Amino acid sequence: MTNTLNPAAGGAPVADNAVLAEKAARVIPGGVNSPVRAFGSVGGTPRFLTGGRGAIVTDVEGNEYVDLIGAWGPALLGHAVPEVVDAVQRAAARGFGFGASVPEEAELAEAIIERVLEAERVRLVSTGTEATMTAIRIARGHTGRPLIIKFAGHYHGHSDGLLAAAGSGLATFGLPGSAGVTEATAAQTLVLDYNDLPALEEAFARHEGQIAAVITESAAANMGVLPPEPGFTEGLLRLAHANGALVITDEVLTGFRAGPGGYWGLEREAVQGGAAGAGAGADAGAGAGADAGGLRPDLFTFGKVIGGGLPIAAVAGRAELMNLLAPLGPVYQGGTLSGNPLAVTAGLTTLRAADAAAYERLTFAADTLAGEVSGALAEAGVAHRVQRAGTLMSVLFGDFDDAPRTYDDVLGQNVAQHRAFFHAMLDGGVHLPPSPFETWFVSAAHDEAILSRIAEALPSAARAAARA
Ligand code: PLP
Repeated sequence: MTNTLNPAAGGAPVADNAVLAEKAARVIPGGVNSPVRAFGSVGGTPRFLTGGRGAIVTDVEGNEYVDLIGAWGPALLGHAVPEVVDAVQRAAARGFGFGASVPEEAELAEAIIERVLEAERVRLVSTGTEATMTAIRIARGHTGRPLIIKFAGHYHGHSDGLLAAAGSGLATFGLPGSAGVTEATAAQTLVLDYNDLPALEEAFARHEGQIAAVITESAAANMGVLPPEPGFTEGLLRLAHANGALVITDEVLTGFRAGPGGYWGLEREAVQGGAAGAGAGADAGAGAGADAGGLRPDLFTFGKVIGGGLPIAAVAGRAELMNLLAPLGPVYQGGTLSGNPLAVTAGLTTLRAADAAAYERLTFAADTLAGEVSGALAEAGVAHRVQRAGTLMSVLFGDFDDAPRTYDDVLGQNVAQHRAFFHAMLDGGVHLPPSPFETWFVSAAHDEAILSRIAEALPSAARAAARA
């Protein structure tokens, strides 16, 4: 067998996306190691990337694209950020991991706590899936109750109990849930409509004393971006706590991306009735106000940005709950790769570099892009909605009389228009998420020059959508 990528190993280098896609499909199910990377809903050939710098990625054929996937979230500052690369290289030279603690683990935990003071203790894991799985185990361990409530269209990773109506990955492929999940496991997750407090109240009444936790994306971003309606988070916290259940706020995607303190950082003051006095100025939303009001999520999950592109995620929350984890308490959780020094270094350096100026650049990029996409689609007569939550944005194709509130509201999108738009943008040098249910990820490296490259591609993509 020849090695197609390494001429030194005897094969000629292959610089053809289609050939590599065929090769991958022969040895990897669907040719991808995570379903959303496949071009399942848009068709065509996925691009095989050789690298990225700032807001630009390059494929094996030498084509450059403006990247709006952002590694599905981690690339907050752009790709191959020199100070992050330097720090990781220095850490790598010291060794890849020792199965013993390294000093930087506590520093990363502190950096998270500085941004979300309600997160009094932090346990590092390797993926968002592990983080939500662990949060649920803590909730069950604390309450002694079996049931979990999640909202339709929210994605919390691929653990068995959380795969029902789980948003983008499943929606892209038209799947209601996953085969291989037992009925007994599925029955322990109640799936409710997002933004529906009466349904939540009814579920608590019907399953009195049985619900351990409600898990929610702090702003839904795996069915397009759907922020909670005003009053929803407050109502959810009140109802859950009145019924003895915990609230797990999943900030794996939104954490330190929607804003410096995650989406909870943007919502805290409104939820706590303005009593919290969240920080002012450039740091607004980060950290401040944790003790006021008392209304707060019990557990948080983080991922993506906190690893800066390497595998780190975290579960965090009130000390009393977090200290249930082994070795202090009876809830077991562990991991060979947890707190890996390279990943911790990448995350810590990223968070330290994500200062007020970086969030200003992210806001500018998201605002500018949202305006330009909307303008181009309107000009071409394409019905759409641009959805926002802090610096997060997504584009829904179709007629929406009102702001969508639930998963059902977004399922009827015009997929054909998205497909045509996606391919025209790709031809125009912009790498968009290959699904209409995904967030578009800008970075602090999406400056005016990059944004004008996107703007140039937009009119013909909008016309392609109009023709579809
Ligand atoms: N939670 C949310 C909100 C996510 O968006 C994701 C991944 O996209 C996860 C959890 C799972 O994270 P991971 O893919 O690292 O397992």
